[in-house]
Amino acid sequence: MVRREGNAAPSLQDIRYSVRMSRYRLTPSIEQEAILLGHCAHARFVWNLAVEQHRWWRPGRASAPGYLEQCRQLTAARAEHTWLREGPQMVQQQALRDFAQAMTNFMTGTHGRPSWRKAGRHEGFRIVAVKPGDVRRLTRKTGEVRIPKVGWVRFRWSRPVAEDAKSYRITRDPAGRWHVAFASAPGPVPAPANGEVVGIDRGIIVSAALSTGEMVSAHGLTVCEQRRLRRLERRLTRAQPGSNRRITVKRTIARLKTREADRRKDWVEKTSTDVARRFDVIRVENLNVGTMARSARGTADAPGRGVAAKAGLNRGIYRSGWGLLVRRLEEKAPGRVEKIQPAFTSQRCSACGHVDRKSRESQAHFRCTACGYACNADINAAKNIAAGHAVTARGGLGDARPVNREPQLLLLTAQ
Ligand SMILES: [Zn+2]
Repeated sequence: MVRREGNAAPSLQDIRYSVRMSRYRLTPSIEQEAILLGHCAHARFVWNLAVEQHRWWRPGRASAPGYLEQCRQLTAARAEHTWLREGPQMVQQQALRDFAQAMTNFMTGTHGRPSWRKAGRHEGFRIVAVKPGDVRRLTRKTGEVRIPKVGWVRFRWSRPVAEDAKSYRITRDPAGRWHVAFASAPGPVPAPANGEVVGIDRGIIVSAALSTGEMVSAHGLTVCEQRRLRRLERRLTRAQPGSNRRITVKRTIARLKTREADRRKDWVEKTSTDVARRFDVIRVENLNVGTMARSARGTADAPGRGVAAKAGLNRGIYRSGWGLLVRRLEEKAPGRVEKIQPAFTSQRCSACGHVDRKSRESQAHFRCTACGYACNADINAAKNIAAGHAVTARGGLGDARPVNREPQLLLLTAQ
């Protein structure tokens, strides 16, 4: 996390569009601190119960309870135990939600298995459904935040707080310092109202090609880091199961993978904001990244992609963060993103409209066999996407508009 000290002006990115948490030093009174510690204890207790439930699970036994089931159990436990009932339900429920997220991270391999939280070491809880009136500024340097069952607690107003903060997390570090971190859901970006349309092609080598001719790529790991990751992965296969060495290697791998994911997210945020600001209409291919990544055969739905492109496709799609990019574009430019039928976008000449598989000379080069127009293959595809042109699998000219009657008639006559 990037932290700024003093009055350094935060960039626009920080205030409006970043999904990063911004952290402030919390200064509770002694009485408030006692209640805060109680909240932390509740969150920790609930988290550890969830860990215990999942530790108990073994293959063959009934599956460990999921989030919803755990919430039901929590309600029952609160009815039974006065100590739990005294704490806010939200704090306890969010601990379960955090645990569910941690399990997901563990299953996808980016993080280690969620483990026990220890008193004094992992102290914190989360509050959601924050209303604009729950945070206010007192003086130039102080603000306060309303915390359930604690009341108004002061914090150092070290930089502006996002007005649309929807949740915050309170933490206490081992040194006894308290912090509050606000998370804000970024709002839509205003359209430039210039009538400009852009097409974006997802690439394997470049992460995105724009019809304007720009190519933007997500920076994953550096060559050096990739080498290190490969070395660690080899070391992991040799490490004895259950050994300390294995745990250390696994943790280092997880850290590297997190770094890669963070960079990709950062790239998606910057690119989506930039595109949403510059263009009124944003056209992308209508791809189901989920199915494509799972099965290479899924690309049969999108003919025109070379078979060679399928090599490393799984990794490539995830690495380029394509699905995330489209999702964030739709959030930042609601109603301005159009999805185009992907068929033949890479075989069609964006200059004359001629469709020929041979025009795509290689992964990177496009040269029209009819008119000789030459262009980077991804940018040619992006131009086709921008024009909303696509050709249906039957060879007729298709269009990006919502389905009208004509294609159905075509279908009837063809049968
Ligand atoms: Zn041509």
